[in-house]
Amino acid sequence: MDNRIFLIYGKDPGKMTKALLEAEDAASLIGDRGKRIVIKPNFVIAGDPSDGATTHTEITEAVLEYLRDNGFANLVIAEGSWVGSATEEAFRLLGYYGLAERYGAELINTKRDRFRKVTSHGITMEICETALDADFIINLPVLKGHCQTLMTHSMKNLKGFLSDRSKRDFHRLGLMKPIAAIADVIRPGLIISDSICGDLDFEEGGTPVETNRMMASTNSVLFDAFAAGLMGYKPEDIGYIKEAGKMGIGDIDPAHAEVIELNKPVASSARPRGTAQRLAAYTAPDDACSACFASLIHALKRMDEEGLLRKLGSRKIAIGQGYKGKNPEIGVGVCCSGADISVKGCPASADAIFNMLKEAALGK
Ligand code: SF4
Repeated sequence: MDNRIFLIYGKDPGKMTKALLEAEDAASLIGDRGKRIVIKPNFVIAGDPSDGATTHTEITEAVLEYLRDNGFANLVIAEGSWVGSATEEAFRLLGYYGLAERYGAELINTKRDRFRKVTSHGITMEICETALDADFIINLPVLKGHCQTLMTHSMKNLKGFLSDRSKRDFHRLGLMKPIAAIADVIRPGLIISDSICGDLDFEEGGTPVETNRMMASTNSVLFDAFAAGLMGYKPEDIGYIKEAGKMGIGDIDPAHAEVIELNKPVASSARPRGTAQRLAAYTAPDDACSACFASLIHALKRMDEEGLLRKLGSRKIAIGQGYKGKNPEIGVGVCCSGADISVKGCPASADAIFNMLKEAALGK
């Protein structure tokens, strides 16, 4: 199993996607040009990607362009929104009818597909034939928060391949074990993650956190375990990652990932909204990079969840390149290495920031 995770920072999802596809050498990974390739974006609802819920259309377009330019012609885009939401509305809003036509791809609303029953780890589910019969799946999840599972990314995005009946069953069964079970059945050959502005805490968006980062991996479980840290969690905090580890579906130790950064983040002014804006009141940014600032927001959210935010008192967390050579009280990332209390990283990860803030709040 390939344990590499590629990271890239920037504001152009199309270019970033191409760079990740090249880094993964996706054409060699897929192999035979006749293979039927299924591309799976995340359209939980019909929402603009800037709201933090849906995959940026530029990413899907860059994948299609890359595949066409490398001689692949049997292309499918497949997705089914959550129960009660019309997938066609997302296709229309996000420009997928034109996209499919331009690249000669089939566009499939998985809700209208045929389904076959599959049982995995004691969970019986109806999975669409498009996914079961694919030769190669490219998963395009959004890394974002989720009100029930805390986080949604590679494994949970596979729910879009289920019938509505199975989606309801998954909720009845508590989501965690079923999500791990589908990840054992459907194993995408490549995952390109949209972490441009995923939502802080809801899969349907509304509180996007500008992160300006994308990632790629071929290993769903390890990728999710690594992504949990970017959201301020340990892999075991996310029930379906823990279940996947217990079931032996994959490695959930992020220390086993080989993280390869294709570039470094650059300073950018973030404009947080909603809860993220409230949490940003605890920060004192000065030329902060969005990936680093997003990690701090996720760490502050964890502090809030643990009831520790108020224990920080009136202290504001320093972050950004403007703090180089300065001595703030608490700071984040290598730019703030001169702080009395600081956490390493460039960008710093949310789980490391959370641990540092927790200790500072508890006076350890
Ligand atoms: S440590 Fe400094 S340079 Fe590195 S990501 Fe954070 S703010 Fe940017």
